Amino acid sequence: MSTFKSINPYTQETIAEYTAHTPSELEQRLAKGHQAHRALKQTSLEQRCKWMQQLADLLKEKADEHAAIITGEMGKTLKEAKAEVLKCATSAEYYVEHISSMLAPKVIPSDAQQSYISYEAKGIILAIMPWNFPYWQVFRFAIPNILAGNAGILKHASNVSGCALAMERAFLEAGFPEGVFQTVLVNSKHIEPLIADHRVQGVTLTGSTAAGMSVAGLAGKYIKKTVLELGGSDPFIVLKDANLEEAARTAVKARFQNAGQSCIAAKRWIVDQAIADEFTERVTTLIQQMSQGDPNLQTTDMGPMARPDLATELGHQLHQSIEQGAKLITGGQRSGANFAPTLLSGVQPGMTAFDEETFGPLAVIINAENEQHAIALANQTPYGLGSSIWTSDPDKARKLATQIESGNVFINAMVRSDARLPFGGVKQSGYGRELSLEGTHEFLNVKTVYIA
Ligand code: NAP
Repeated sequence: MSTFKSINPYTQETIAEYTAHTPSELEQRLAKGHQAHRALKQTSLEQRCKWMQQLADLLKEKADEHAAIITGEMGKTLKEAKAEVLKCATSAEYYVEHISSMLAPKVIPSDAQQSYISYEAKGIILAIMPWNFPYWQVFRFAIPNILAGNAGILKHASNVSGCALAMERAFLEAGFPEGVFQTVLVNSKHIEPLIADHRVQGVTLTGSTAAGMSVAGLAGKYIKKTVLELGGSDPFIVLKDANLEEAARTAVKARFQNAGQSCIAAKRWIVDQAIADEFTERVTTLIQQMSQGDPNLQTTDMGPMARPDLATELGHQLHQSIEQGAKLITGGQRSGANFAPTLLSGVQPGMTAFDEETFGPLAVIINAENEQHAIALANQTPYGLGSSIWTSDPDKARKLATQIESGNVFINAMVRSDARLPFGGVKQSGYGRELSLEGTHEFLNVKTVYIA
């Protein structure tokens, strides 16, 4: 029987141990989810919105409590954890306001007397989610799907079971009927029966590209639609006409927030060689001012990484890159899951820190000869999630944005997800979209109705 341990990454103390659900417990949850979906579909949208508003209110009221669970299990600072919980609440409110227009039937003229699209819920959506934003990744799939009448079953990362169970309790406390949102404690090796089950009508996975390949393979076998939000190695391009002070400040935030463990972190700083020295000086100062340590303290800027093995893996990538010729500017020290904010310069294609996703507090500077070289470097990756371009010329920025192979381009801003805008990637970063109208329709039956 599998067990899941939650271990505080900063203290290395065991918080709790959870036993995996048995096959019969999983069957009960599938049956409940199916029943809940059927009932939810018959419930008025007004009622579903009422429950969702209550959930938003509860998240706000208990933000400190939820934040403490997040920080305890995966180590982000309490400040960051609270902001994450509040983002879930405000996004729920956004959907409460806009879901009715997103689900409204769309009339399409044809040779029928009347023809239109009806957007209808399909059943249970299985969500396989990562630990890095343990609330937000879950809520961004759950809010629109549940408002539309789908039920959610969450298989969370095995180190954040406490978060998963707290979210399940929050849905119930908000008034949602039992079965609308459930957590299953199941080892990823035993996911196939869930994907295969006829009551599961879609699978959404946020995680590594390797997990995406495995889950998409299974989903293909059973003809289940998938949305895959996978890894990234986002370029952060700084051109010579950029506002350097602003670019440097944002680069540091975009790389080091959440201890660098974000899919859309600015993982490759691609800087015009004409301004590379000045940019390096500015970011080095900012990095050296950061305080890394106890995530519970208000004065801490960056907590530990989520697990010591992740810090060890990042250490290997750092040392390989140095052996391959990169220069260590600052940082590099580590102890347990604590990894100092680190900067490498002189990084090039062929070095580990360029070629692989680095999922932790390691920033790298890559010199570009000119704009076109910067774009070529940006696209020289198997990933295509986000990207950021810094320049004071908006026309040039718009033109360059069309040349970048990614799911989003942010000009003079850091990449972030926003309930109002579609979020997702291309290439090995996955397919499908979350959030906005596009994300809301992913797991709905886009049903054509034709009246002769
Ligand atoms: P991960 O190891 O792929 O785990 C993510 C989830 O997938 C966990 O619930 C994990 O369960 C499960 N999983 C792993 N292998 C599986 C398999 N073969 N079959 C079924 N489930 C499987 O990723 P992570 O280390 O937690 O997260 C980091 C990665 O996620 C990075 O690559 C990051 O870029 C990516 N990410 C992408 C986005 C996005 O929106 N595109 C957002 C956040 C993170 P267990 O814990 O039980 O293994």
